[in-house]
Amino acid sequence: MRVDEQRIGDIVGADNVSTTPETCMIYSKDVTSLPDLAHQIVSPRFDVVTQPVDVLSIQNLILYALDKGIPIVPRGNGTSGWGGAIPTRGGLCVDLSSMSEILYFNEFESAVTVETGITWRDLLTFLEKLGFTLPVYPSSATAATVGGFVASGGLGIGSTRYGTILKQVHGIEVVLPNGKIVRLGKLLLDSKNDILKEKVEEGNIWLSKQLSAAGLGTLEQETKLFTGTYGSLGIITKVTLKTIPKLQLIPFAGSFDSMVDLVKAANRILSEVKPFFLRFLADNYTSKLRALNEHENESGKYILTGALLDTFYQNEDNVPIIRTVTNEENGIVLDDTRSWFYWNERLYPLRIKRHGPSLVPAEILAPIKMLPEILEKTKTELRNSKVAIEGTLSNDSTSSVMVWILDDERKKVSFTIGWYRSFKIASLAERFGGLPYAVGLWNGRHARKFYGNDSYNVLKVMKKKLDPNDIMNPVKVFGGRVTIGRESMLFGFLVGFIVALIAGWVIPRGLGLVWIIQLLDSSLLQIFYFPPLVIIGLSGGLVGLLITRIMTLNQALTIGIPILRILSKILRK
Ligand SMILES: Cc1cc2nc3c(=O)[nH]c(=O)nc-3n(C[C@H](O)[C@H](O)[C@H](O)COP(=O)(O)OP(=O)(O)OC[C@H]3O[C@@H](n4cnc5c(N)ncnc54)[C@H](O)[C@@H]3O)c2cc1C
Repeated sequence: MRVDEQRIGDIVGADNVSTTPETCMIYSKDVTSLPDLAHQIVSPRFDVVTQPVDVLSIQNLILYALDKGIPIVPRGNGTSGWGGAIPTRGGLCVDLSSMSEILYFNEFESAVTVETGITWRDLLTFLEKLGFTLPVYPSSATAATVGGFVASGGLGIGSTRYGTILKQVHGIEVVLPNGKIVRLGKLLLDSKNDILKEKVEEGNIWLSKQLSAAGLGTLEQETKLFTGTYGSLGIITKVTLKTIPKLQLIPFAGSFDSMVDLVKAANRILSEVKPFFLRFLADNYTSKLRALNEHENESGKYILTGALLDTFYQNEDNVPIIRTVTNEENGIVLDDTRSWFYWNERLYPLRIKRHGPSLVPAEILAPIKMLPEILEKTKTELRNSKVAIEGTLSNDSTSSVMVWILDDERKKVSFTIGWYRSFKIASLAERFGGLPYAVGLWNGRHARKFYGNDSYNVLKVMKKKLDPNDIMNPVKVFGGRVTIGRESMLFGFLVGFIVALIAGWVIPRGLGLVWIIQLLDSSLLQIFYFPPLVIIGLSGGLVGLLITRIMTLNQALTIGIPILRILSKILRK
């Protein structure tokens, strides 16, 4: 794809654009290590990377991309692992990390408004100096941006009490795929310095009409179209978030011999104490924490850890309850030093990556009561892999289950074939009444279940209205065709060739279909001077190649994942 670097430089500033292969390659990855095969089915890299510094540059970038039909992908810091931030058809990466100002804070309204490229860590640092904190932030807070988490909509630190990040969003500003700037919900700003006021008024009028034509609610009510949808409907440029007072923080931790006991204790703590945060680490996680060197008695145990964030008096009442519950459910209460250790560790789950060096994360959302079974099933399913499992428990009886698969991408064959494992975990979730944790790119096949039928239909209608040319983060959430690489086309040809040969030779003979055998041997076909079966094989190959070219990503995965699984079983034997 040809992009005009000069023109893009005029829009975002010459220093804020790069087309060097190195930069484009780095920006085309997220936290997941992918096999080369994955890049055969999605575009291996962006054509250009930009770092706009204001909303008007983003608007002009989108108008330029729309005019030229260039795909656009918004990006925070690429810490997600579901492919939402990687390119599917090349195009333009919009890195928001240079837009990181804190625009508004009002302690009486318990709200803060920021540009979405700010990291959670920087926002927390600002708020905590003033005696406030955030109800929810991701455990990737040191690097992840506010925009990336709001666009993904997950659980984080604090979700045990406050639910998902989506519940913490008061309002947002979005640049739509047609370049219009809109504001939804309650976006709090200092109106004196609002240079976008007129553009927003125009954009809001347009979007209101679209919403009412689609039978949806008002701008105030429809924030959810753009939060949790992975930047597929627009680029979020500002967010107003809830804040809470930073009360007394008391971490706690207990170790257990079994997940069954841990879950019993967790359920009681959730209902009797309502902690700010509750997390579990499975035995295979603690056994990989090298930081536990001096605490071998916790290595290989199940750890339940979390924190209270309440008044001094509430904490004084709740700490003894947690201790009693832990003891009564056969756990060992860990001392303050160990509790602080696990609290501080909440931000560094990637420590275990040293056992890789490559990481393939797979995450699901499941009922808390099913955790012991899910853990056992996952361990059995991945018994030949290095795995570490942890999760965050939420106040609605569900828990995230993060399965970190540790592998080595330098071992090309086994790494490629093992790619099916993360998809397998997503399917496993459904068997236990759960869901894949996120959609992004790779879980697009589960999007309808993930959002619910009605909500997904609404999202599809709005995608068509707002982005008829499918330039905004294409293939994410909604699926679609991808640019297939040469090796994949060859693969399609070979599969078609072999299937046609088998169909042409084995089936007629196996079923005794004499007339087909005679037709294949007839003189009419022999005029090509090829054995007729070769012609059939070649035709099958061409059909296979054609199918590969027109297949959507979701179809490719539906066919490809079982093939990888079978190959993996054969190779293991
Ligand atoms: C160690 C570690 C811990 C993690 N902990 C958590 C956790 O506790 N909870 C959790 O849910 N996830 C977690 N994650 C996953 C990931 O960090 C989060 O989803 C994170 O919020 C992504 O932020 P990011 O800035 O890196 O976004 P990216 O990865 O860059 O982008 C994520 C998605 O959002 C879109 N996007 C980014 N910015 C915008 C924007 N401004 N407007 C519109 N779309 C946008 C992208 O296109 C992409 O689809 C963790 C990951 C790691 C590596």
